[in-house]
Amino acid sequence: MIMALDPVVEQRMFHNVFVCMRCNARNRAALSKIRQGKVRCRKCGCDRLRVRKKGSGKA
Ligand SMILES: [Zn+2]
Repeated sequence: MIMALDPVVEQRMFHNVFVCMRCNARNRAALSKIRQGKVRCRKCGCDRLRVRKKGSGKA
């Protein structure tokens, strides 16, 4: 059963969430900090993070 996500829920799930390009761990951080390179993956320490894509379920 698929229902449209509440915008608030969607915001909570996807806003400021980034995925490590090396180990695919999810990291939550402010976009401004990502842009400044201040954020690193909490799991592997890699600083290459991408925006989490909607709709894929995993990752
Ligand atoms: Zn990582």
